[in-house]
Amino acid sequence: MKKVFPMVIRKTPAEIASMRKAGRVLAGLLKELAGLIRPGITTGEIDRFAEKYIRGCGAMPSFKGLYGFPASACISVNDEVVHGIPGSRRLREGDIVSVDVGAMVDGFHGDSAMTFPVGKVSDEAMRLLRVTEESLYKGIQQARAGKRVVDISRAIQEHVESHGFSVVRALAGHGIGRSVHEEPRIPNFVIRNEPGPELKPGATLAIEPMVNAGGFDVVTLDDNWTVVTRDGSLSAHFEHTVAVTSDGPEILTAL
Ligand code: MG
Ligand code: MG
Repeated sequence: MKKVFPMVIRKTPAEIASMRKAGRVLAGLLKELAGLIRPGITTGEIDRFAEKYIRGCGAMPSFKGLYGFPASACISVNDEVVHGIPGSRRLREGDIVSVDVGAMVDGFHGDSAMTFPVGKVSDEAMRLLRVTEESLYKGIQQARAGKRVVDISRAIQEHVESHGFSVVRALAGHGIGRSVHEEPRIPNFVIRNEPGPELKPGATLAIEPMVNAGGFDVVTLDDNWTVVTRDGSLSAHFEHTVAVTSDGPEILTAL
């Protein structure tokens, strides 16, 4: 049987311009957060800052209410991988904290995440953050017309595993546009005989390696949101929204 690939919605230059506006809001926000995050701040305070910043730019927080999520930012600490709910938790020296944010402008979304060190963290934690961010850029370099989704997956997996870390299997990156989550699914590891669709100009992708210091298994907590590593090891998450253009990948969530 011929393999049928899911429909990838290609965007017009005007639509990509809206996504670039949304992306710049997120880039500015994450830059501000780098200066704000320090021991003693609560995850709820980070979320309130994020919502105010996004709305102050004339954008809408994409995640608030998405599938029922109660906040504007997903904030995940240490062994929390993604989808942590902000609240009264106070960050401590040595923690790492992942902040995942989305913004909508003119009906189009951007999606970006970054893991920050809180105060001084261990050398191993810093190495995890560095390798995860590097793997994101390795993946982005493959977001080119004529390549397939698996080329992104392979670049991320090879970089992460060559440093002794593991990529989460249960969660993936995704297409993005009028909806936060569109086709194609972008796994961070190679699935045998599943190359995914060919990439074409106008495709817009949220590439987001989630990397564990230990094993790749994850579990979801009783709040039905927070995903944590099964073995309690640290986890990091970096994400950009990228447009495939005839000139190569354009990071839309950059300043
Ligand atoms: Mg995200
Ligand atoms: Mg995403």
